[in-house]
Amino acid sequence: MEVRFFSKKIIEWYQNNKRNLPWRETSDPFKIWLSEIILQQTRVSQGLPYYHKFVTEFPDVHALAASSEEKVLRLWQGLGYYTRARNLHACAKLVVKEFKGVFPSRYDELIQLPGIGEYTAAAIASIAGKEPVAVVDGNVFRVLARVFGIETPINSLAGKKEFSSLANQLIHSADPGEYNQAIMEFGALHCVPKNPKCDDCILSSGCLARQNNLQESLPVKIQSREKQTRYFYYFVVKHGKSIAMTGRQNKDIWKGLYEFYLVEKSRTTKPEKILKEDEKLKKLNPILSIETISDTYKHILSHQAIRCRFIVIKLKRKPARKDFPFQFYTLSAIHNLPKPVLISRFLHDFGLL
Ligand code: SF4
Repeated sequence: MEVRFFSKKIIEWYQNNKRNLPWRETSDPFKIWLSEIILQQTRVSQGLPYYHKFVTEFPDVHALAASSEEKVLRLWQGLGYYTRARNLHACAKLVVKEFKGVFPSRYDELIQLPGIGEYTAAAIASIAGKEPVAVVDGNVFRVLARVFGIETPINSLAGKKEFSSLANQLIHSADPGEYNQAIMEFGALHCVPKNPKCDDCILSSGCLARQNNLQESLPVKIQSREKQTRYFYYFVVKHGKSIAMTGRQNKDIWKGLYEFYLVEKSRTTKPEKILKEDEKLKKLNPILSIETISDTYKHILSHQAIRCRFIVIKLKRKPARKDFPFQFYTLSAIHNLPKPVLISRFLHDFGLL
């Protein structure tokens, strides 16, 4: 298909079909950046309330940089992959320090900031800075693979190069931001993964997938390895109306979020057995009683599947700090702590929040 025909058609389609979204009404790179980071985590409909919360709480980069990390994590709660929220905060601080609080809109500056990869840098630079750099996200891969009949796997090095090079040839140099948003929107609404709307498509006459009936098999993706399964046993240690919690500090998932006392196992294990064997819990044995044990919760992350049970135990008295070095929090304090969604689900299910 001819390059100019493709970009002209895509932009025409966008102007007639685009969704009205708040970040499309601004050229402020700070707000565009916020929306892009949120949308890496979730769909537009679910991301919208988060975007509103963030811009209301942090109308500019100075406000975000001055916030505590805990507050940022709390607002982010529910989106998952909390490294993104921590990078968001670190990036805002760096922009205040290194760029005097003026959020950059040039690709070569953006790409150096924490949490900003090639895709996000291209999106901000093209929309806010009108720089002709093409975005290549899942939607762009799909549209290009189908229209141009490309069978190179999109998650291979060769595929990334090929798609990126084609995307940069196709970009509309007069309005690169509009073009980038147009192709992503076209992929999100029209050339969708299942049942693309080929019968009513502006590109159908030149689309190779349509001509060869390859819509279902393009784009090609190398199958990734199986998800690792982890077995979490959370001991919800209660004393009076307070519950023991601690912030996760290690280099694992959920760094900085609060959780109950966790024992991780490599396979399913009886909670009663863990209570007898775990060093910390053994010390609590004389003063505890089991209140309830939950069914198994399943929680899926991008590379891991977690199977988790919550064991609620009640203490007759507060343990010595050396035996159980956890802080006890009231329910209202727990409400304000940043927590993994898995913990929030349990707290809601058991009427504790
Ligand atoms: S014809 Fe079908 S596969 Fe080709 S671009 Fe249009 S919707 Fe996508």
